[in-house]
Amino acid sequence: MSNSQKRRQPVYLDNHATTPTDPRVIEAMQPYFSEKFGNPHSGSHYYGWEAEEAVELARAQIAGAIGASPEEVYFTSGATEANNIALKGVTRFYREKKNHIITCVSEHPCVLDSALDLESEGTRVTYLPVGEDGLIDIDELKEAFTEDTLLVSIMTVQNEIGTVQSMAEIGALCHEHKAYLHTDAAQALGKIPLDVRAMNIDLMSITGHKVYGPMGLGALYIGNKPKVRLTPLFSGGGQEKGIRPGTLPAPICVGFGKACELAVDEMPIESKKLEIMRDGLLAKLQGAIPNIYINGGMEHRVPGNLNISVENVDAESLMAALPDLAFSTGSACSSVSQDSSYVLNAIGLSNELAESSLRIGLGRFTTEEDVDYAADRLIEEISIIRENRQVLVGTAA
Ligand SMILES: *Cc1c(COP(=O)(O)O)cnc(C)c1O
Repeated sequence: MSNSQKRRQPVYLDNHATTPTDPRVIEAMQPYFSEKFGNPHSGSHYYGWEAEEAVELARAQIAGAIGASPEEVYFTSGATEANNIALKGVTRFYREKKNHIITCVSEHPCVLDSALDLESEGTRVTYLPVGEDGLIDIDELKEAFTEDTLLVSIMTVQNEIGTVQSMAEIGALCHEHKAYLHTDAAQALGKIPLDVRAMNIDLMSITGHKVYGPMGLGALYIGNKPKVRLTPLFSGGGQEKGIRPGTLPAPICVGFGKACELAVDEMPIESKKLEIMRDGLLAKLQGAIPNIYINGGMEHRVPGNLNISVENVDAESLMAALPDLAFSTGSACSSVSQDSSYVLNAIGLSNELAESSLRIGLGRFTTEEDVDYAADRLIEEISIIRENRQVLVGTAA
């Protein structure tokens, strides 16, 4: 394929990093930036009431998407903040009574770093391993509980390999052992049905920009039955019942609410479409290129996610050869951290295979044409890299 045939705008295949904002979300937000600009906490006039009403509708839409009551939804700046409040807030509140928490090695850095902070404050933390399929072992969880276990934090869907944990079963065990269950569901919202009660979840973190909503807003669900208490991280003017003070960004709240409503409506059709496209892409790659390994197994996986290692192909070099595609890799330099993916290492990959890994995230606005183009280009460049490697190996010998 010549350069002139390549697209000017790269094909976006990184919907786990962020999603484009749905035009219907932008339309819903628009008036709250301009004519309906009020502070939702201004209780004494029309502008405030108008904004407050919109914020409360958004809260109800978000609650509806996870099976919660609106009073159980607290706005935050995103999933990072929600995870921090959940882990630190709950542990600091109950620490005098119970001071052991359980999490797992493949959690998002904001959960792992919160756990590390808590360790430095004297909390005991157990980090469960994950298997090749990316899942924790339920028997290992059972063994990890002690009388002192306060909180378990296990993510619903893993952001690199897309694996889905059995939250209902994990939650039932937590409650049997009188521990709370928190889950980072940033990658689950809009991708699999969520119901905090059926799934026995006491705290859940979600975020707007992974579900075609705006960046900069998320929410923490804090269950009322049983009532989970926590020590807030911020001091302020009492908004969000003091759990997360600060003026709520009404337009962004409206956008997240709308995104949740759309996610619920579109999930049945969207997830089928994504699964078919993802499976088609995988089949095409596997048909053309030998020695591709699927990371994390296909059984418990969200529809739009594909994570593969291409043997003998350095993912960074591949990415450099494919400026017309936007995807991510599990190797150094592609992310904030310097090491190869700790998540891929945790499911048993060597550094070499982790550095040969690609994460492809299809989304609502991915087309058949995008996927066909991406498959052709990946096959083309992978073949070239492998041929060049053959030549090099031949020369060395
Ligand atoms: C994106 C993401 C986060 C961080 O969410 P922000 O809203 O960007 O802070 C946390 N956890 C997971 C699993 C994510 O995918």
